[in-house]
Amino acid sequence: MTMTRRDFLSASAALAMAPALGTRAWGAPLPRDADIVVIGAGAAGIAAARRIQAANRKVIVVEATGQVGGRCLTDTTSFEVPFDRGARWMHNPDTNPMIRLARAAGLEVYSAPLGQKIRIGRRNARAGETEEFLAALVRANRAIDEASRGKVDVACASVLPKDLGDWAGTAEFVLGANTTGKDLKDISAIDKARAQERTAAIACRQGLGTLIAKLGEQVPLTVSTPASRIGWSNRDVTVETRAGKIVARAAVITVSSNVLAAGNIKFTPEIPKRHLDAAAKLSLGSFDHVALQLPGNPLGLARDDIIIEQSNSTRTALLFANMGASSLCSIDVAGSFGRDLSAQGEAAMVAFAVEWLAKLFGSEVASAVKKSSATRWNAAPFVQGAMSCAVPGGQGSRKILTEPIGCMFLAGEATHETLWGTVDGAWESGERAAEAALRRIGALKEEPAAAPPRAPKQRRRAPPGAPIN
Ligand SMILES: Cc1cc2nc3c(=O)[nH]c(=O)nc-3n(C[C@H](O)[C@H](O)[C@H](O)COP(=O)(O)OP(=O)(O)OC[C@H]3O[C@@H](n4cnc5c(N)ncnc54)[C@H](O)[C@@H]3O)c2cc1C
Repeated sequence: MTMTRRDFLSASAALAMAPALGTRAWGAPLPRDADIVVIGAGAAGIAAARRIQAANRKVIVVEATGQVGGRCLTDTTSFEVPFDRGARWMHNPDTNPMIRLARAAGLEVYSAPLGQKIRIGRRNARAGETEEFLAALVRANRAIDEASRGKVDVACASVLPKDLGDWAGTAEFVLGANTTGKDLKDISAIDKARAQERTAAIACRQGLGTLIAKLGEQVPLTVSTPASRIGWSNRDVTVETRAGKIVARAAVITVSSNVLAAGNIKFTPEIPKRHLDAAAKLSLGSFDHVALQLPGNPLGLARDDIIIEQSNSTRTALLFANMGASSLCSIDVAGSFGRDLSAQGEAAMVAFAVEWLAKLFGSEVASAVKKSSATRWNAAPFVQGAMSCAVPGGQGSRKILTEPIGCMFLAGEATHETLWGTVDGAWESGERAAEAALRRIGALKEEPAAAPPRAPKQRRRAPPGAPIN
């Protein structure tokens, strides 16, 4: 398979910021066979491979980019502290396996303070105003929950109370773009209501990308090796790459819903239209970080402060300031506005971030920027977006994606019913698909153990403002 210049440039850029992988994947001959082949070395792929290894079966992970982690990617070279270019938070500390895995891997986890601060122009919102906002969020959430119980799935935006007043735009940003990468008009009420509430925000000091790379250290994998074609039947699969072919008795495929729907991997025979349609209905939203190094704390904020603004348009953002007590600040842009902005390129993204901060904190911010970097996940050829979120009417697609295709099993965040769009959802989906593949090849006889109980979904209340992404 030939590599386009764009592929080459993005692979090179990714390599420059990739955690060291040693030499295992470079130049080593590709194994010719395995019990199970895993496509993609993100959270789902690494979880699947570890589960297969634990069952003493031969696994090989084939990864298209130059590094392990997928949408968990830590840039350790651009700034004084690790900068998570993708996922940053681990939620629900009582049940999230990633937190335990991070601690077991010797990494440090810490909590961001609960609660966002809200700016109204150049000042902080007063206590009464913050309460009004939280009340607006509760009412908006309740309306979405109620709509999700109706006969027909609808867009979240269509059921919002009409009287949210000055807080309508902010509520839409917090519940829509900032949580899912999509505006509420593009989101299924059922999908949104079924999503497990994401409480608390725990970060890994070394980065979530570092964590996934560490968890993949003992996994046999090959990087910079896109799977270009997969031949499949009920008995076996043949994965074609430019380094050769791998034959296996089953496959776990973890590529994003956008990559699957785009047909980047050719299948022989073609996979059912039912699965392709399902992937298309779970398209990825847009979510990016614009990182600014601002020495001397020109914003006058505390460490790990999280700020949103009262806004009546989608042209807004979320600020995560002085990350881990450093001078690094992240301005997150998302939804339709974030998508248009990222299409304009990194310079436009940085210009917006500086202009937005100047509007809220004063024009001195502009001269304080020492270094900057912006992610552009929509342009990453092997991901093509941020996180899946169902279009109205599309929630049932998540279940469809879990239906086996011959001896192939799909995994990845989009296949998780309630934890879609998260790292722990991706991880659990990888384990689920690996177990299905192991059963298919006769390596697991018994029915899968009942999934460990997750905390029951709580009804949404006014989110105390914990950042979602
Ligand atoms: C900016 C951003 C912020 C986020 N914030 C959070 C957060 O705070 N908390 C949270 O829980 N989640 C967050 N998420 C979501 C989270 O990152 C994802 O849900 C999760 O990482 C997805 O993992 P995955 O394994 O399903 O997919 P991926 O990570 O996309 O892994 C799929 C892998 O397949 C590879 N691949 C693609 N095509 C091929 C091919 N042809 N051959 C071989 N390999 C291929 C890709 O390169 C990739 O490595 C965020 C995402 C983004 C983008």
